[in-house]
Amino acid sequence: AKQQGRNNFQYYMAPEKTEAQLERFAMEAMLRKALEKDELLVYYQPRIHTKSERVVCVEALVRWKHPSLGIVPPAEFIPLAEETGLIVQLGEQVLRKACNQIKRWQNEGLPELSVSVNLSPHQFRQQNLPAVIARILRQAGLRPQYLELEITESAAMQNVNRNILMMRELKEMGVKISIDDFGTGYSSLSYLKKFPIDVLKVDRSFISGIHEDPDHAAIVNAIIVLAKTLKLKVTAEGVETEEQYIFLRQHHCDEAQGYLFGKPMPPDIFEEWVRLNTTDKDLMLSHET
Ligand code: C2E
Ligand code: MG
Ligand code: MG
Ligand code: MG
Repeated sequence: AKQQGRNNFQYYMAPEKTEAQLERFAMEAMLRKALEKDELLVYYQPRIHTKSERVVCVEALVRWKHPSLGIVPPAEFIPLAEETGLIVQLGEQVLRKACNQIKRWQNEGLPELSVSVNLSPHQFRQQNLPAVIARILRQAGLRPQYLELEITESAAMQNVNRNILMMRELKEMGVKISIDDFGTGYSSLSYLKKFPIDVLKVDRSFISGIHEDPDHAAIVNAIIVLAKTLKLKVTAEGVETEEQYIFLRQHHCDEAQGYLFGKPMPPDIFEEWVRLNTTDKDLMLSHET
């Protein structure tokens, strides 16, 4: 139609929408509504300190509780949220819920936990991100050292210089930064060294192969050594078996996260999980502080 000129009638006809486009459009409208109605949930998955075997941190993972579809996993709406820019609002809601929840648990005398929250590349490009985070922390009454921000390796490696500036600004506020899905994003090691980061999270794909593929075991070990060299903490993602956990402990991986310890859980279930997996002494200690 375009070739026939802009004034041609065909130009104004609705372009044929494929079913996929319509579905996407409907999905976007539903997601917008869910954000307005505050229908997003945050689940929590424990991160275990391998030396003490205590839970030290939780990762906040978003879920969409759809009235008819049930619980929708992030893989099915994060990419759409990212493309439409809705991710900025979504990300803020997750950050706010996570910070409020952690503060509530601290007040209730649960062991002191940090929370890590995933940031999308789009959020990371928002100039006002530090101000937004500062406001959320202030409103929650949470000290910044309890918040860790996760950015994927592939996102971190795009526009490195701008990311370094953003990371510096966030670090100056006192929050921690981790590189998520590490090992999948073609890091330049010289850049990695320049990032003011605290944690590397080894991607699940390497952990699952530890006992099937000697290359994977070697890669995991190399990442752990790299992290130690750069004085970073290292966390393994997706730990599902006892064998994987033993390997990680033997190779001095600092923390482990995965179904072996617990799946992402809604706050009330997570709270029960923590109480079951914490001794009375741990609870008393955190009461004292
Ligand atoms: P991620 O940040 O790498 O989070 C870890 C994912 O691995 C989670 O999937 C978690 O449920 C899953 N997982 C943890 N342990 C195991 C295990 O032992 N085995 C297996 N098979 N899986 C495990 P989930 O919750 O579906 O989230 C998927 C991705 O969606 C996340 O990957 C993250 O990139 C993104 N995401 C989740 N919540 C948010 C959010 O609030 N904001 C943004 N921007 N992205 C989010
Ligand atoms: Mg993550
Ligand atoms: Mg990950
Ligand atoms: Mg991921």
